[in-house]
Amino acid sequence: MHVLVSGGAGFLGSHLCETLVARGDSVVAVDDLSTGRTENLAALNQHSRFRLVVADVTEPLGLDEPFDAVVHMASAASPADYHRLPLETLRVGSRGTEVLLELAQRSRARFVLASTSEVYGDPEVHPQREDYWGHVNPNGPRSVYDEAKRYAEAVTAAYRRSHGVNTGIARIFNTYGPRMRAIDGRVVTTFIAQALNGDPITIYGDGSQTRSFCYVDDLIRGLIALVDADVPGPINLGNPTERTVDSLAELVIALARSSSRIEFHPLPQDDPTRRRPDITLARQQLGWEPHVGILDGLEATVRWFASRRDEVRAAATA
Ligand code: UDP
Repeated sequence: MHVLVSGGAGFLGSHLCETLVARGDSVVAVDDLSTGRTENLAALNQHSRFRLVVADVTEPLGLDEPFDAVVHMASAASPADYHRLPLETLRVGSRGTEVLLELAQRSRARFVLASTSEVYGDPEVHPQREDYWGHVNPNGPRSVYDEAKRYAEAVTAAYRRSHGVNTGIARIFNTYGPRMRAIDGRVVTTFIAQALNGDPITIYGDGSQTRSFCYVDDLIRGLIALVDADVPGPINLGNPTERTVDSLAELVIALARSSSRIEFHPLPQDDPTRRRPDITLARQQLGWEPHVGILDGLEATVRWFASRRDEVRAAATA
């Protein structure tokens, strides 16, 4: 297949590009490098079936070659990033999704949207199934991401209904692994950087809030299964094993053999209290479920960050 991956230089996007090229597909990554990094694509740089186009997907791309699949991964995705880039985040979810849907329509390509568990907001239903409509603050600080992705889902579904585009929507839950940025502000990266630096681990709130963490390799396998399938979704992709933020802190401290102590900070506004995917649909429709447990996944991630001490040290002062 000839595949366009927006956000191809990002954490998930670059892993997706690499896996697609490895199985024989040709890939054009489009990225404006606002949160992506070219070094994520180092292994693909010279590959004949790979090309990076540095561009903003909210503008017409001028790519007139036909694609078999278009995967829209581009967006700031960590709370720190989308608070820093609020209007850009709204635009890439709205206008960016429209531009790529138009491109998919012209190519008669399969279109897959990387949506998010954030469409469930601070959920009142637990675990979250795809038929839950969510509990989202439409104008709070997180809304720039949540509502952008909710609009992205709406416009994707409308192109399917009105223009017959073959669309799929993945709702991606918290994912971690190598190539996250030490300064991205997310809990896994922040805790690992703090543990490796021997700095206090900053738990927001009392640490009893939960997330369910999926290792990147599992997630990419699920995403590719969705690209290859003919199902519209939305479909949850995530690891259903739920854990509290304070237990994650203990685990990271142990794996990094760190002497860091724990420090409590105020909980950010609208921080979801619990989050866990129900992945029944992904099991049924994609034959997919995650295999990598938190210990193995975190160990690989800690090892990756430990080999990037300069970046990790710089995160302490960022
Ligand atoms: N969190 C924390 N300390 C940090 C960063 C995050 O306790 O240094 C908490 C945050 O308040 C949230 C959870 O960890 O409850 C996950 O946050 P993250 O930013 O990774 O992603 P989210 O799932 O909220 O989008």
